[in-house]
Amino acid sequence: MALIVQKFGGTSVADITRIKAVAETVKREQGAGNEVVVVLSAMAGVTDQLIGYVAEAGGRNNSPEYDAVVSTGEQVTAGLLALCLAGIGVPARSMMGWQIPIHTDDVHGKARIAKIDVDALRQCVVAGEVPVIPGFQGISAQGRITTLGRGGSDTSAVAVAAALGAERCDIYTDVDGVYTTDPRIVSAARKIDKITYEEMLEMASLGAKVLQTRAVELAMKSNQRLHVRSSYSDVPGTLVVDEDEIVEQEMVSGIAYSRDEAKITLVQVADKPGVAASIFGPLADAGINVDMIVQNVSADGRATDLTFTVTEADLERAVETVAAKKDVLEYADLVSDSNVVKISVIGVGMRSHAGVAQRMFETLAEKGINIQVISTSEIKVSVLINEEYTELALRALHTAYGLDAE
Ligand code: ADP
Ligand code: ASP
Ligand code: MG
Repeated sequence: MALIVQKFGGTSVADITRIKAVAETVKREQGAGNEVVVVLSAMAGVTDQLIGYVAEAGGRNNSPEYDAVVSTGEQVTAGLLALCLAGIGVPARSMMGWQIPIHTDDVHGKARIAKIDVDALRQCVVAGEVPVIPGFQGISAQGRITTLGRGGSDTSAVAVAAALGAERCDIYTDVDGVYTTDPRIVSAARKIDKITYEEMLEMASLGAKVLQTRAVELAMKSNQRLHVRSSYSDVPGTLVVDEDEIVEQEMVSGIAYSRDEAKITLVQVADKPGVAASIFGPLADAGINVDMIVQNVSADGRATDLTFTVTEADLERAVETVAAKKDVLEYADLVSDSNVVKISVIGVGMRSHAGVAQRMFETLAEKGINIQVISTSEIKVSVLINEEYTELALRALHTAYGLDAE
């Protein structure tokens, strides 16, 4: 008998009809002779609504009360699914993060899982009940409820699967797998049958929200097989696996985009030792992640322009932090722009193929799209462009790398 963890996302539990359909899926898996543990998201849209309430009440998104409020969406769906399961003759019980418990650190709003006690979960399974776990939540050493960051139910599912040594972790969602790019934007996107952890990690961290980045990180570390599949149909989805399980490597396996980017340019900043440290030191101290950076060589040896990107949510604080250093940095002007998108092409095949970046630049040039910032790593090339060209760029690149479905 195999133990399977099944995770259902927000649209899969959007209303009672959908939750009843989920109950049938759980029952089928159990009927096939498997032990099942379920992890759920909140109903689609509910977490956004709860976050709105917290903001209206003047709460910050890194406070314990933010987590107390936003974690409740998952509590509702867990209780409802346990009821629907019981209604079709499948014994089940909801188990909140604190009841298991799922221990996390105390970084409210984006906590990390430290450890999961599996005893209570095992007892539940052995007693013939399906544990229904609200994803996204845990408990800190201080005994307060924490949440794992947006999309965090994926991470809850992988962590539970790894802790229980599950045979499979199935991520049920509103698309039938991981595609070469977001199928909601590029209709020619193709479903990928197998993708490596490494590529999936890049895709997720570069914006493909189909899996939370930390979930992929954890799956890779614990060698947990993931199956991303549709909660609407039974067709096989995408397996996330080790590189050696993939026979033929594509040069480019996927294209991701992230609109959650903002660009800051310091015009005519002093070109002298210590300037980068005086910009990026205070930003790091303020907990602001800087992603892409470009600095030009100055023509006169005195001043140059420096551009970097942060998330849109951090833009205001980043501008304030840098402006507070104006006397040291001696820049002429500080310009910010959140009307940008980061487009990335990803593929482990890039290690052995030259010319991937060149094709990207040529394709964008043919469409008259200006590249503002470039960054590369071993298996990806990213560019920052004006947000209005997102769709055009994705479609053109998808065709240029031969990814379009026939
Ligand atoms: P869930 O609520 O099930 O967790 P999400 O909305 O978090 O679902 O993730 C699924 C969505 O991810 C899809 O609806 C799709 O628009 C988006 N997405 C972005 N990039 C990709 C991709 N490369 N492959 C599949 N889906 C993608
Ligand atoms: N409900 C949470 C969110 O919307 C967690 C999740 O769905 O994974 O971010
Ligand atoms: Mg999700």
